[in-house]
Amino acid sequence: MTRIGVYGGTFDPVHVAHLVVATEVRHVLGLDRVLLVPAGDPWQKAGRVVASKEQRLEMVAAAVDSIEGIDACSLEVDRSGPSVTADTLEALAEPDRELFLILGADAAANMGTWRRLTETRDLATVVVVERDGEHADPPAPGWRFVHVPIPRLDISSSNIRARVAAGRPIDGLVPEPVVRSIRERHLYTAGL
Ligand code: ATP
Ligand code: MG
Repeated sequence: MTRIGVYGGTFDPVHVAHLVVATEVRHVLGLDRVLLVPAGDPWQKAGRVVASKEQRLEMVAAAVDSIEGIDACSLEVDRSGPSVTADTLEALAEPDRELFLILGADAAANMGTWRRLTETRDLATVVVVERDGEHADPPAPGWRFVHVPIPRLDISSSNIRARVAAGRPIDGLVPEPVVRSIRERHLYTAGL
């Protein structure tokens, strides 16, 4: 069996905590690969996404380029319509693959609102990474749930966007190629 981690998010933009999550979960659970899957149309964040899906995917690809076992996955960006996790897991499922859906505790606590929740449960083991000490329980009995503690990093994409908009530095908070990409494309400066 190949063990694949599936790590979805808006990644607007990807930051170093995302990379810590992906690499730590891969190490702790002995996963062959972890895929970072930027949401094409994050319907739960309508109106709040600032960079295009192509730009977010490009930043993720640049961020993971030099990291062993971590890849960018364009599945949700290439698909039209709202991004639904169960659809993505279905597209990635293979008979010889075991899927692990990686979520921050805040995202896991929100699972009750997801579409096609039962299908999600049947397709993957949920890996909850602890964020801000937040603990999440399965939305219902019958879920395969594991918890992975990660070093607590108080970094969020919202905060990165706010820093860029305020003209503050983001070096070290996002990978170098992503800093460059944000500067070159003048992302997140609206309102300046
Ligand atoms: P935003 O502030 O725009 O919501 P974000 O930093 O939360 O951005 P997302 O793309 O929403 O980033 O998150 C993708 C996944 O990564 C989610 O499961 C989220 O819980 C997790 N995550 C994000 N930042 C961290 C962090 N600092 N520590 C642990 N998990 C994180
Ligand atoms: Mg978030």
